[in-house]
Amino acid sequence: MDRRDFGTLLAGAIGAAAFSPFPFRPLAAQDAPLGVDGPRLRRRLDEITRFGSTGDGGIDRPAYGDADIAAREYVRTVMREAGLEPSVDAAGNILGRRPGAESGLPPLMAGSHIDSVPNGGRFDGPLGVLAAVEAAQRLREAGVETRHPLEIVVFSNEEDGKVGSRALAGEVTAEELDRTTNSGYTIREGLERIGGDPERVTEIGRSRGDVAAFLELHPEQGAILVGDDLDIGVVQGIVGIKRWQVTITGEANHAGTTPMDQRSDALVAAARFVDTVHRRARSMEGRQVATVGRISAHPGAANVIPGRVEHTLEIRDLEMAKIDRVYDLLRKEASRIAAETGTEFEFSHYYTTHSAPTDPRLRDIVEEAARSRDLSTLRMPSGAGHDAQSIAQFAPVGMVFVPSVGGISHSPDEFTRPEDVVNGAEVVLGALRAADGRDWSAA
Ligand SMILES: [Zn+2]
Repeated sequence: MDRRDFGTLLAGAIGAAAFSPFPFRPLAAQDAPLGVDGPRLRRRLDEITRFGSTGDGGIDRPAYGDADIAAREYVRTVMREAGLEPSVDAAGNILGRRPGAESGLPPLMAGSHIDSVPNGGRFDGPLGVLAAVEAAQRLREAGVETRHPLEIVVFSNEEDGKVGSRALAGEVTAEELDRTTNSGYTIREGLERIGGDPERVTEIGRSRGDVAAFLELHPEQGAILVGDDLDIGVVQGIVGIKRWQVTITGEANHAGTTPMDQRSDALVAAARFVDTVHRRARSMEGRQVATVGRISAHPGAANVIPGRVEHTLEIRDLEMAKIDRVYDLLRKEASRIAAETGTEFEFSHYYTTHSAPTDPRLRDIVEEAARSRDLSTLRMPSGAGHDAQSIAQFAPVGMVFVPSVGGISHSPDEFTRPEDVVNGAEVVLGALRAADGRDWSAA
């Protein structure tokens, strides 16, 4: 019990003393606001850091490697302590189950991943897994039976292709199994190493109705919550992404003998366009982001005016239509810049990821779970991809963010404060209980 629960219990006891002839009537387990065991959760987050520790607070635990396998064994042990029955599916996902009281209901699912990028952070992933295990353990300790079965999940290989969660969405193909991943193993080899089955991984897709609802807790990986001193992010969805290759053609010529007013400098055009991308994305209403992340000038010599520039353009937003609107606007700006600089712009689209909105009911449930614990909230998009994105293809999903100190992520410097770890876990616990009381069959 942490201090807040004690306060709540004390307030309850005082209330009971004032209005009941029986002072200090113990609250029934079902009425009491359940809290998580914060020290236990934090201890487990420390313990899992041993597997692949870089010694500077970071984690090097790419999927399928030895550290990943050891950490997976650790989580299975912790799941058993929590009264969950762990099993491994064909995609190498670990599923820790606890039966529900009502037969025939699909499971409520919660979890995240435990693999990391090379030299990544220690909370990205394990926080969501161990908080979900903690929530299940507290429910059991408090004698709370859920109507739905609980399925606490460790998705395999999130960081290099979301293999586990995409397999559940039926999106993993036989062709990608021979791709080499960050650990040096192919997905096929990796699945064999972690107890999966590459021959069946394409067959385990679930359908709508197979999962009642899914919840994922994750560090924000940005600086919005920490900057505004907020406790909990209620994720509205995971943004969609579109990318283009942009080619600007001018005229290569001698940098010494071509007067300034007779140049068609493709790099000058690119410079103006890059600045315009930044300013327009910033000045429009909303949370869209637009980035030029890679650029090259040709022929690329100090004494030659660049005749051709190639660069990328990436736009992200929760609404795919908004991405298209930003793009249309930038195309118009490009035409203007082309006319001014005597160059030509060509845009070639090469990549799309569709956005994945969270379920409106789960947004409300997460927000209410936070508010009832006096935690401040903000509704916000997730600019990074998550396993929840895959699960959203066939089930209602909700996502909870807690602040990342300094907004740092995919780095050994990534850090989530202990109080935010506990806050996030309490919101997961509260949201699971609330979701359990709802009917998800009409989803
Ligand atoms: Zn993650």
